[in-house]
Amino acid sequence: MSLQGITVLGATGSIGQSTLDVVRRHPDRYQVVALTAHRQIEPLVADCVEFKPLLAVVGDAATADVLATRLAEHGVRTEVAWGEKALVQAATLPGADMVMAAIVGAAGLAPTLAAAQAGRRVLLANKEVLVMAGELFMHAVREHGAMLLPVDSEHNAIFQSLPADFPRGLTACGVQKILLTASGGPFRNTALADLSQVTPEQACAHPNWSMGRKISVDSATMMNKGLEVIEARWLFDAEPDLIQVVVHPQSVIHSAVQYVDGSVVAQLGNPDMRTPIAYAMSWPERIEAGVAPLDLFKIAHLDFYQPDFVRFRCLQLAYDALREGGTAPAILNAANEIAVASFLVGELSFLGIAQLNEAVLAALPAGPEGSLEDVSAADGAARRLAQQMIREKRFA
Ligand code: NAD
Ligand code: MG
Repeated sequence: MSLQGITVLGATGSIGQSTLDVVRRHPDRYQVVALTAHRQIEPLVADCVEFKPLLAVVGDAATADVLATRLAEHGVRTEVAWGEKALVQAATLPGADMVMAAIVGAAGLAPTLAAAQAGRRVLLANKEVLVMAGELFMHAVREHGAMLLPVDSEHNAIFQSLPADFPRGLTACGVQKILLTASGGPFRNTALADLSQVTPEQACAHPNWSMGRKISVDSATMMNKGLEVIEARWLFDAEPDLIQVVVHPQSVIHSAVQYVDGSVVAQLGNPDMRTPIAYAMSWPERIEAGVAPLDLFKIAHLDFYQPDFVRFRCLQLAYDALREGGTAPAILNAANEIAVASFLVGELSFLGIAQLNEAVLAALPAGPEGSLEDVSAADGAARRLAQQMIREKRFA
């Protein structure tokens, strides 16, 4: 098997590090060609020393200077660059056969889109890309012959549970429903009255998964599941009514597909992102991922509940934005990024996240998702309005 080059966008994050762990296990299959990070230097230095990529990209010039000095100390000859153009360069390097899109949030849109436009194999963790610009992104994938493999565990499970020819249409393949599972996060049973006092530490303490802080907060509000409904809509060309959220606290069934003949095909596993990462990297083959085998006897039973759209207002907002269409999901996503960042620094309460998202979504009219400029304009307007509402302490 010839070596495949991989660029890891967001290498220092939770998904980035799990990806490098899979790469480390298969030096005969994968070779790192570029790594990117925002401001975290030390983990990036360690990864450059270990994987010796051609290029390392960071967020700004000062960080790039420090990185270059640190790499020189180690005798590592990796080229160092910074900024958005350099992220695009990393995503489209000639040797980058596959690109792991694991930047968090809207910052990942440009390089991930560039990888699709360059016809690469795109391993998509950065769900915000599809939430913001699903139509444009899927169009680029088709037009440029890119291969898109979902890394989000639910979407990877759905991908594993669908027939290989699903792009000809879900209904034509006999699909009745996509069953998108959700753990319900840390506050599934918390008294509603106590939710106003939730701290960032409590919100980031997910019962089953260890993840970055933004997605952890999204899981606590269930905005994450809302973003995933939108992600599923684009990945599988699924109408919103076809996507059913199922609360399943154990996170053992990562999602399932229900067919017209009464069959339900599901993918199960321990909650470890290295499984979907390895599958996306090696598909249609399977490779060892360092994940412990699932012990069904230890699990013993699995529970399922209807989602609570009152407690988890953000989930409802995501369905609303998806049905509204156009730039509405981009507006919701941008408001949510500001809301979560503000919550994490103590400027917005936990319940304020959904309130702010709802207010921004209601205030800004959605337009058509015609071009990347339309999406950026909607994203920018939503961010400015959200920041203004926070400054005015409307939802403190
Ligand atoms: P994280 O916060 O742990 O890591 C984010 C990475 O992006 C870091 O390398 C960081 O340096 C980089 N980054 C942050 N801001 C940036 C910016 N402005 N410009 C360039 N780079 C920037 O996040 P994560 O948990 O690894 O999640 C990454 C993505 O994968 C998110 O979109 C998340 O929704 C998705 N995802 C994560 C998990 C998980 O288990 N962690 C599961 C499914 C999907
Ligand atoms: Mg997920």
